Amino acid sequence: MIEIRGLQKSFGSHHVLKGIDASIVQGEVVCIVGPSGSGKSTILRCINGLESYSGGSIDIDGRRVDRQHASIKAIRAEVAMVFQRFNLFPHRTVLENVIEGPVYVKGEDRAAAIVHARELLASVGLADKAAAHPPELSGGQQQRVAIARALAMRPKAILFDEPTSALDPELVGDVLQVMRKLAGTGMTMVVVTHEMQFAREVADRVVFIDGGVIVEQGPAAGLLNNPQNPRTQDFLRRVL
Ligand code: ADP
Ligand code: MG
Repeated sequence: MIEIRGLQKSFGSHHVLKGIDASIVQGEVVCIVGPSGSGKSTILRCINGLESYSGGSIDIDGRRVDRQHASIKAIRAEVAMVFQRFNLFPHRTVLENVIEGPVYVKGEDRAAAIVHARELLASVGLADKAAAHPPELSGGQQQRVAIARALAMRPKAILFDEPTSALDPELVGDVLQVMRKLAGTGMTMVVVTHEMQFAREVADRVVFIDGGVIVEQGPAAGLLNNPQNPRTQDFLRRVL
């Protein structure tokens, strides 16, 4: 579903991604781990066209991701992103945040979008918060609204960029539980995370990135329990 070949990205003279190759199949859950500054967020931002890339290619269901092309809007609607900071509209209700994309970006019928949004809010455990405003919610609740908002677009895949890193520790579990449930539904997910236990339980594959290259990848248990590359070993020693 997501085919990345020889992906290169520079910011000015700063060469950040140095040839990333990865294929993500439908229904797969891939966790990307690696040190700060290694290029993890940049990869996600290139996949859904928030950032242009300098070389190589990204295709989603056979369609090239090209920020200059009109198709980029459709691709962004198909590949949702959940950020570390939830990026909800603070002055709109939770329900309005969730229906915004379907109604204003996809042109869905408002009444139908509301029905769907209420189902999604129930599925993330927030059925009773539809009328609340984001600042009234905990960080964990806001992140679950952000996940409902991503799902409201009926995406083919969801990219998560450190979705629990900004949360107080006691709020992390509820968000991971929602993500675990989502993985169980067969959603294609690419998750940048430092939650190694989540990666171990949920990921089909873990990709370790350092210095803009994939250093090592494989099934979660193998990579996390028995890393082969010294850089992976060193990283895991520090985070586990
Ligand atoms: P990670 O998510 O792994 O911590 P990032 O993908 O955010 O890493 O960043 C990789 C490198 O690219 C870092 O050195 C960062 O400073 C640089 N970088 C990221 N975004 C920009 C930008 N918009 N302009 C300039 N440099 C950037
Ligand atoms: Mg990042």
